[in-house]
Amino acid sequence: MQLAQQVNRITIPRPDDWHIHLRDGALLRTVTPLAAAQFGRAIVMPNLTPPVTTAPAATAYRERILASLPPLVTGGATTPPPFSPLMTLYLTSTTSVEDIAAAAAAPHIVACKLYPAGATTNSASGVRSIDGLWPVFEAMAAADLVLCVHGECADPDVDVFERESAFVRDDLPRLVAAFPTLRVVLEHVSTRDGVAAVTNQAPGGRLAATVTAHHLLYSRAALFRGGRLRPHLFCAPVLKAESHRASLVEAVMGDTSGRFFLGSDSAPHVRASKLGEGGAAAGVYSGRDTLALYAEVFEAAGGEEWVAKFTRFASVNGAAFYGLPPPDGTVTLVRGDYPVPLVVEVVGGGGVTDDASVVVPLRAGEMVHWRVEAAEG
Ligand SMILES: [Zn+2]
Repeated sequence: MQLAQQVNRITIPRPDDWHIHLRDGALLRTVTPLAAAQFGRAIVMPNLTPPVTTAPAATAYRERILASLPPLVTGGATTPPPFSPLMTLYLTSTTSVEDIAAAAAAPHIVACKLYPAGATTNSASGVRSIDGLWPVFEAMAAADLVLCVHGECADPDVDVFERESAFVRDDLPRLVAAFPTLRVVLEHVSTRDGVAAVTNQAPGGRLAATVTAHHLLYSRAALFRGGRLRPHLFCAPVLKAESHRASLVEAVMGDTSGRFFLGSDSAPHVRASKLGEGGAAAGVYSGRDTLALYAEVFEAAGGEEWVAKFTRFASVNGAAFYGLPPPDGTVTLVRGDYPVPLVVEVVGGGGVTDDASVVVPLRAGEMVHWRVEAAEG
């Protein structure tokens, strides 16, 4: 019977988050320690204001990330394991092959991020058409830098629920065909069309996808639950119909190619940016409980092998795709009912009543059913 097989503790190789937004300043100092408590490495997105478009800017940002972590207490039993941010450049219409060469020469820069202009938070500098970037993609392929793609068509006339499908239909095939040696990650895949592009690629294809916890857990109905608009679940790409969510779960659970891996797209905004007159900024803050949320998905849908599937998705596939060593150390998750606070306070902010000083985490006021117990380096 099912209950007899229930596990209450799992220990897996320390996972990596292949897509995270850590922001900057006080918000950076707030969310980075929570990421570092769960992950050994993370690919940090470059959509700051202004965006991170050069290797020196990425290196400086990496130093700010590392400085946001509590100092290591060496020798103590509670020493947190090291956290290594992996950096990305933000591609613009003025990115040059020299910028790519500088990125390839920088030890911690592993990828460049393609944003369609206007698709999401701080994407105004993004690219209107991928055609102008052909020399850049060529240089990236030659340098073996990974291309991370926000795969949504930027045409405002295209229906918001159709934008990923339009990109996958109109842009992705010619990109992949033109640069067969370029590794491409379709970030935060949210549709069955995106899943199919990854699953049905030709043998030897170099297309992979990250999948967020929120796109695995929620369909667009959750945005309107109880007849109320839920701004904290608004993200880009927007949550899709249930049939799309189901296709994501099926693809991840059935993945034998190693082409689907963990990328939380945790994207914190202070509450003022979610509730203000200007409208809700796109982004779900899942980073407080990332591993718990994913574990829930795998336990519910992964069958008897769910821990093995979770391990491959969280701790194996991404490093293999990026050509990086397997993780160091382990992380242990413990089952329970753990309440998620209504807000995460921004360090040095004005307290819980100040909308500019709090972030509302995914599941705020509800429960998650796993938590990270301990990590070993
Ligand atoms: Zn993102």
